[in-house]
Amino acid sequence: MSRLATVNVVKTFTFDAAHFLPNYDGKCGKLHGHTYTLITCFVGQVGGDRCMVADFGAIKDLVQEVVLDDLDHSCLNDVNWEIYPDPGEDFTSEVWELSQPTAENMVVAIAERLKAALTLPGHAEAFEGVHLRQVTLFETPTSYASWIAEDQVELALRLAEGATTFFIDDPEEDN
Ligand SMILES: [Zn+2]
Repeated sequence: MSRLATVNVVKTFTFDAAHFLPNYDGKCGKLHGHTYTLITCFVGQVGGDRCMVADFGAIKDLVQEVVLDDLDHSCLNDVNWEIYPDPGEDFTSEVWELSQPTAENMVVAIAERLKAALTLPGHAEAFEGVHLRQVTLFETPTSYASWIAEDQVELALRLAEGATTFFIDDPEEDN
């Protein structure tokens, strides 16, 4: 028996992939490769008999199926990045078009795929009451992009209030 608490469970993966950035005037415009490090963070309550938020094995299976099977040893520009159908939200495959596979674009697409997959049969039971909190993608050992769930909630609230972006208040939009 444990005390009820909110705990993050974090698992790290690596994969190799090639890419190029068409809309970029520099070295990264040419075909090249990276060994990416992907760090996934899930949050939930720990308690009950198992004293687990989510089984690390279930996280491994989820990330393997939803992310690594498509990305490892791929050319990222050729990957079909359409996310799973998510009837609760109005995402389209066009929004997540990754013809420009920067770490920033990839981390958003990976987060959306993982979020959607948590509700799919085969994963939903293992992740009941568990939320995706953060996805971090290292493109090199010193450079990474991260998606954080709390930021998306804040952004949605700001947009609902009429802000045009998360970071900059546009005085033209005040009314
Ligand atoms: Zn690159």
